[in-house]
Amino acid sequence: MHQNSSKNVLISGASIAGPALAFWLERYGFNPTIVEKSPVLRPGGQAIDVLGTATEVVRRMGLLDQVHARSTGKRGTSYVDADGKARATISSEEFNGVGANGDTEIQRGDLAEVLYEATRDDVEYLFGDSIAALREDERGVHVTFEHSPARTFDLVIGADGVHSHTRKLVFGPESDFVHHMGYYISIFTTPNLLGLDHWELDYNAPGTIAGSYSARENTEAKAIFAWASDPLDYDYRDTDAQRRILTETFAGQGWEVPRLLAALPDAPDFYFDAMAQVRMDSWSRGRVALVGDAGYCASPLSGQGADLSLVGAYVLAGELAAAAGDHTLAFARYEQELRPMVEACQKFAEGVGGWYAPNSKAMIAFRNLNVRLLPYLPWRGLIGGAPQKVARTIAAKDYRFAESPARR
Ligand SMILES: Cc1cc2nc3c(=O)[nH]c(=O)nc-3n(C[C@H](O)[C@H](O)[C@H](O)COP(=O)(O)OP(=O)(O)OC[C@H]3O[C@@H](n4cnc5c(N)ncnc54)[C@H](O)[C@@H]3O)c2cc1C
Repeated sequence: MHQNSSKNVLISGASIAGPALAFWLERYGFNPTIVEKSPVLRPGGQAIDVLGTATEVVRRMGLLDQVHARSTGKRGTSYVDADGKARATISSEEFNGVGANGDTEIQRGDLAEVLYEATRDDVEYLFGDSIAALREDERGVHVTFEHSPARTFDLVIGADGVHSHTRKLVFGPESDFVHHMGYYISIFTTPNLLGLDHWELDYNAPGTIAGSYSARENTEAKAIFAWASDPLDYDYRDTDAQRRILTETFAGQGWEVPRLLAALPDAPDFYFDAMAQVRMDSWSRGRVALVGDAGYCASPLSGQGADLSLVGAYVLAGELAAAAGDHTLAFARYEQELRPMVEACQKFAEGVGGWYAPNSKAMIAFRNLNVRLLPYLPWRGLIGGAPQKVARTIAAKDYRFAESPARR
């Protein structure tokens, strides 16, 4: 019999953190259920890096080959001017494969799919549903759903992203925890309009960046836009309003911006959000805890969202198994173990925006000069390796002693 088989855990959110947590919980003998608001696994999103300790976590999951097989293989990025002339180029070769990278980069939707495929046979998924309300007593957490019948769980974990519904229900309003980083980001899939070969092109006008990189062996591409902005007043569920904001912000820009925006109406996916961090003093309350962006989003500027989710899920599951039923102890150890990595990733994100979307023509030229000089700098390895260093802030603890006897 599985150890911890009485532990029924409800996880809200099936992107990266939720399925990764379910993977480990099931392996340790828990009985996880995932509820996902979307009727199907959500596609789309940016290419994300799996680096440092997250790579080790994925290796221990036995999924590293699959992640590498689906990697983008991107070889570099050129910063172009309004006429499309490359002003600066950064390639992975210049950084020994570290930095502007191929092997470690995977589309967010592909990573979510790998995690879903690895868990779907052993984990109960409730798609197209959401927690409506929860009430906790000494017997557990009594959950009512929007659609499914009410049930009682031993624990509830919010893995439902930066706008976490679980966090709102249990910890309070979003405005208490979500800190705007001064930028917005939007990404959608297009045909490979620019004929890119494992490459990214980026164009900066002051305070904005528009770009495209090839994906899926150059058979398609992503259009990516980011811009400096104070918080905007819009409904984050209203995608028509978001499309309008994006189009108006980039109207009249040069390079291939009009062609990329013209592909927006036919895009099969669309992501739009403020770049924000979630800062909380504690990630748990009673029998409810948060994992991934819901509890400690470091913002896209950190480049560490997937790493934090994968490592956070690994640590939370490991500590729950190690504490053998004492969730209060497990949640405390989870925080203690993970917080240094969260702090390092959140700090790393500060100041990145000014480099990514410089706020004046002079700053764009200065950034390009720096990129051109990078290959000649003796400390280029340090710069290229900085994300790896942050991603290794903590080592992957060995929780294998807690593994279910059935899986050894
Ligand atoms: C479609 C999509 C596209 C993204 N694109 C980018 C991108 O381009 N750049 C970037 O930096 N980051 C992007 N992200 C965020 C990125 O995935 C996260 O930063 C990181 O991977 C951490 O993942 P997470 O699992 O904690 O949260 P998320 O990836 O945000 O996933 C949260 C999940 O919870 C689900 N959910 C939300 N509310 C509820 C609810 N009430 N009930 C049940 N489920 C709910 C969502 O549908 C989603 O599947 C995207 C996320 C999604 C879902």
